[in-house]
Amino acid sequence: MKTIKSPKSMQLLSRRTGQTGKSIGLVPTMGALHKGHLALVERALKLTDFVVVSIFVNPTQFGAGEDFSRYPRTFSADRKLLAELGVDSVFAPSADQLYPADFETYVAVEKMSQVLEGEFRPTHFRGVTTVVAKLFNIIRPDVAVFGRKDFQQAVVIKKMARDLNFDVKIVTVPTVREKSGLAKSSRNKYFSPEQLRRAVVLYDSLKMAEKMIKAGHRQASKIKSAMKRRIDQTPGTRIDYIAITDEELNELKRLSGKITISLAVWLDEVRLIDNISLNLGK
Ligand code: AMP
Repeated sequence: MKTIKSPKSMQLLSRRTGQTGKSIGLVPTMGALHKGHLALVERALKLTDFVVVSIFVNPTQFGAGEDFSRYPRTFSADRKLLAELGVDSVFAPSADQLYPADFETYVAVEKMSQVLEGEFRPTHFRGVTTVVAKLFNIIRPDVAVFGRKDFQQAVVIKKMARDLNFDVKIVTVPTVREKSGLAKSSRNKYFSPEQLRRAVVLYDSLKMAEKMIKAGHRQASKIKSAMKRRIDQTPGTRIDYIAITDEELNELKRLSGKITISLAVWLDEVRLIDNISLNLGK
């Protein structure tokens, strides 16, 4: 497995690989890898001939006061996991290689980036779409794999790829969870065992919502209030939002069709997100 730091060398390797007729898969990550990331990598290995995993803690997707500097960085352990899986190449540029001092061009999916997460993290998706567009240009993957754990991110990236005619298929993989139900996340590394137990409330509230929907409830406000009550009972929580949307991120009042329930909740000093999707038919 080759580790590549320079965007130019990565571009060269990708172009040469493409010319041999091999299909290229890309899994973008910020490292601190866990089984959620590995599920994405396994999918890419199944779908394509040559898999590149990028590891880059992308400064432009963190807002002022967010956890960029303390975000977990475990590069050598990550590298080992990826080599064991049979990944072909790790792309791990430094921040100034992707963002030289005179950098000034951004990619933004304008409306979709402003709702849900965007209301609380107004510059987040601009950073995500910019770095992913750069990765697409450097690596030119045939397939790029993203987790449904970051539902809005996957929707925004699909939109960007369509709007800007990137020749890449975006594939999404279901959320990988702890036995407790807590979605695996690099940020779970911030938690003590006691905090991990409280963090399960996000998933519990989603399962409760699912149960209500299966019992016939269709009014979004009722379901969201019940989830809020459930979360408020857990000490140290503060809700940023609970939303029920369609696949284009439009909030629904009455539920039908394919829906996603998403939420962002602070647990002490750490902000967590989670979601589940359900298909209610007509
Ligand atoms: P990150 O390193 O947090 O930027 O995540 C890199 C990719 O892994 C994104 O596409 C995430 O959606 C995905 N991912 C993160 N956690 C999980 C999880 N628990 N299950 C599935 N995919 C995940």
